[in-house]
Amino acid sequence: MKFQDIPPDVRNLIVPKTTGDMRYQCLGCGKEFPIDVLLYTCPDCKSVLLLEDMDEDRLKKIPPEIWKKIFDYRLLLNSIPELQGIFTFHEFIAPNIPVEDIIYLGEGHTPIVRACKELREKVGVNFSFKNDGQNPSASFKDRGMAVALSFLNYYVRTNEVEEVLSICASTGDTSASAALYSAYLSNRVKSVVLLPKGKVTPQQLSQPLGSGATVIEIPGVFDDCMKVVEMLAENYTVALLNSKNAWRIRGQMSYSYEIAQQLDYDMSNKVIIVPIGNAGNITAIIAGFLKLYKFGLIEKLPKIIGVQTEQADPVYRYYLVSDPKKRVFKPIQVKPSVAQAAMIGNPVSMPRVIRLVNEYIEKSHDNNVAFVQVKEQDIMDSMIEANSYGHIVCTQGGESLAALKEGLRLGIIEPEEEVILDSTAHMIKFATFQEMYFEDKFPEGYPVRPKKELMNQPILVAAKGVKYPSPGVPLKGKEFDMFVSATVKEIAKLLNLKSR
Ligand SMILES: *Cc1c(COP(=O)(O)O)cnc(C)c1O
Ligand SMILES: [Zn+2]
Repeated sequence: MKFQDIPPDVRNLIVPKTTGDMRYQCLGCGKEFPIDVLLYTCPDCKSVLLLEDMDEDRLKKIPPEIWKKIFDYRLLLNSIPELQGIFTFHEFIAPNIPVEDIIYLGEGHTPIVRACKELREKVGVNFSFKNDGQNPSASFKDRGMAVALSFLNYYVRTNEVEEVLSICASTGDTSASAALYSAYLSNRVKSVVLLPKGKVTPQQLSQPLGSGATVIEIPGVFDDCMKVVEMLAENYTVALLNSKNAWRIRGQMSYSYEIAQQLDYDMSNKVIIVPIGNAGNITAIIAGFLKLYKFGLIEKLPKIIGVQTEQADPVYRYYLVSDPKKRVFKPIQVKPSVAQAAMIGNPVSMPRVIRLVNEYIEKSHDNNVAFVQVKEQDIMDSMIEANSYGHIVCTQGGESLAALKEGLRLGIIEPEEEVILDSTAHMIKFATFQEMYFEDKFPEGYPVRPKKELMNQPILVAAKGVKYPSPGVPLKGKEFDMFVSATVKEIAKLLNLKSR
């Protein structure tokens, strides 16, 4: 659609102005800090920060119905692709970033795919997957990275900085995303990623390498890499792209904005299930819905269910204590998990979760947040099952489906509700776990045994009594004809085909 075809009441609001008064807010001591320095933790008390727009009440001057139109028309406006990703919601994400500085690599607006009918009937409830694996680096991390790098781009330009070194620790997907977005800005941003050696999949390792990042492998698990990166960021001039980076949370709020837009802002009777690792995603999703609620874009807050595996469940354990006054957060030692991207024992965003869950429950007038724990076996079975019905879920998406079944069993989810499962990455990134399942080769420490009916293996058809072609050595004439017809016969027999 062309600019002049947009209705007059929204036309002059389509291109966002650079506005707002963004400030860091410390969740420990409550102090505020300006955004003209790169901050990751409070300089005074070392707690994590959130970013808030102190002037956001100005957004109330535009009625909710107009905001909805603005968001819809931005998706149709072809001349500014930067407004078709997560920055469709510019004013509700990072209004201080000028449109010219936005980095858009095609992230956001991932589809909500209704689960296959047979699968829905089997599970016993209506549900869909929001496929965040359909982002450019194949995980939801791109939502936050688009904002973190857009801000860095703006920062570098306006502060006349020559070059920034971006750095992050990762369970695989953060580094893939950070490296991708940094590569797009490679004349200004050099990317370094730290990975726990052997604790990311080969696909996740190949991604930052392919983006030209410096990849450093460290013995240990993610929590150890995180400590190293934190110390680096405290003592050297580097731009930290981990969950501590509050710009990422702002970007990830787009997940909620999109769900609302895709469901015509009707959130009644809806449940969102999200896997928890470092807890940045659930923080952002809760913050996103709260924002929509505050400005009247939605009338009801959906139910949020966070899920963790039995092998890495510190957030679940925290909320297991029903009396809020008696809850104490204790980091745990993680055990190997197929939900490897969420295998975190000491989530950075825990203070953010505690703060926002309280607010969410208060505003919902209802106990509208729950946490469930699932078994490794159910995660794997659910992933393989979903994909055998035409979906593309990763192990963490399998974790969401396992949580749906568990939530129904526990009565946390009612059969009349409609559920949206966060499938946080693309299945291809986690193909090694599928392979372990199909070949029954889970290393020690993973409590998973494949179910026969879900296993799948290639079948070799090498017809007897004929020669086989090989690369560079094709068969010719009669030999080739014999090879083809013998192979066809074998396959017809194998598949029990009827001749026509
Ligand atoms: C990072 C990640 C998670 C966990 O998200 P947090 O924000 O760390 O809680 C889950 N799934 C995938 C695929 C991830 O990359
Ligand atoms: Zn502080």
